[in-house]
Amino acid sequence: MQHLSELKDLLGKPQKVIITTHQHPDADALGSSLALAAFLQKKGHVVHVITPTDYPSFLNWMPGQEDVIIYKSNKKKEIGELVDQATLIFCLDFSSLARIDELGEMVRVASAKKVLIDHHQNPEDFADYMFWSTEAAATAEILFEVMVGLGDGDLIDKNIAECIYAGINTDTGSFKHPNTTQNVHRIAAELIGKGADVAKVSSQIYDSNSLDRLKFIGFALSKRLKVIRKYQTAYFVISMDDLRYFKSKTGDTEGLVNYALSLKDIVLACIIIDRGKEIKLSFRSVGNFAVNEMAKEHFGGGGHKNAAGGISLASLKETEEQFVNLLPQYEEKIKSAL
Ligand code: 5GP
Ligand code: MN
Repeated sequence: MQHLSELKDLLGKPQKVIITTHQHPDADALGSSLALAAFLQKKGHVVHVITPTDYPSFLNWMPGQEDVIIYKSNKKKEIGELVDQATLIFCLDFSSLARIDELGEMVRVASAKKVLIDHHQNPEDFADYMFWSTEAAATAEILFEVMVGLGDGDLIDKNIAECIYAGINTDTGSFKHPNTTQNVHRIAAELIGKGADVAKVSSQIYDSNSLDRLKFIGFALSKRLKVIRKYQTAYFVISMDDLRYFKSKTGDTEGLVNYALSLKDIVLACIIIDRGKEIKLSFRSVGNFAVNEMAKEHFGGGGHKNAAGGISLASLKETEEQFVNLLPQYEEKIKSAL
C-alpha cells in the first residue's frame, strides 16, 4: 500500500485529528469514521469526528457516535477552529469535497495533512495521502487493511471490529452484491475473530424499523412505485407530503430503491425524493448498466457502477419527466446489461 510508511511516520507523534465523511452518513461512512477514531485514540491522538449532516438512528449503537459533531451553521465558528487547529484530517468514504458541503472549503484551505480513504470513482486531487481503490467493496475494507498495514491489527477490538463489519456488511448488501470478494469474507472472518457480534450488528441495522417507517414502505410500494417494462426500469417518486405524513426521519428512505430493483427483469431502479431544497435521486442497477454515468451526466452526481446518486434543482414532476425522457437513449445499454 503506497503512503503507508508516510502515514506510519505521521502517526508516530501525537496529532490533532479530524475525521470527516460524506453527508447523510451510512454505515460504511460512520462505521469507518468511528472505527478510525477509536483506533487513533488508542494510539494517543486527539480525535474529533465531524459529519456534514445527521445520520440514521439505526446507527446509534455505534460506540463513539455520541461524541460526533454534526455540522450546523451555528457551530461554524467552533468547527472552523477545530479544522484550523488540526494537524491531520482524514476524509472517509467520499472522493470530492463537494460531498461534505460547507465543510469542504474548510478542509480544502486547512493547513493539516489530508488523508483520503475511499472506494468511489474519480477522486478529486486534494489529499496528501490516498488509500483508495474502487476494487474495495467498502471504505471499511480499506481501513481494516490500513490498520493491519500499520502493524496495529492488535488494536482492533470488539467495538472497532463491529463498526468495520457494519460498513462491509451494508456496502456489500449483506454480502450479496458482486463486490463480495474473497477478501471481503476473509476480513469479515477476521473481524469475527476480534469479537464482532455479527447477529447483533445486523439486527441493529436491519431490524430497528419504526412502525411509521414500515407503513411508509408499504405505502410507497403500493402507491408510489412505477414500472416501465419497455426499459426494464422501476422507480419511486416521493413527495414532501409523503415524507411528512409518515413522519419520515433520516434514513427512513434508505434501501427503498432496492425493492424496485428486486422486481424480476428490472435492470434500472431509481428513487426520486423531494428533500425541499433539492430533489435527491438514488440509482441502482444490475449487471453492466453503469448508473454512475447516468448520475454524473444528468444529475451532477456519481457513485459506483451499480449504486449512484445525484440531485436536481427542478421540481419533483420535472425531475421525474427528465428521468423518464432519458430512458430511450439508454435502451441499448439497459437491454445488454445482463
Ligand atoms: P445513495 O443512493 O445510497 O445515496 O448513494 C449511492 C452511492 O452513490 C453512494 O456510494 C454515494 O456515495 C453515491 N452518491 C449518492 N449521491 C451522490 C451525489 O449527489 N454525488 C455523488 N458524486 N455521489 C453520490
Ligand atoms: Mn462506502
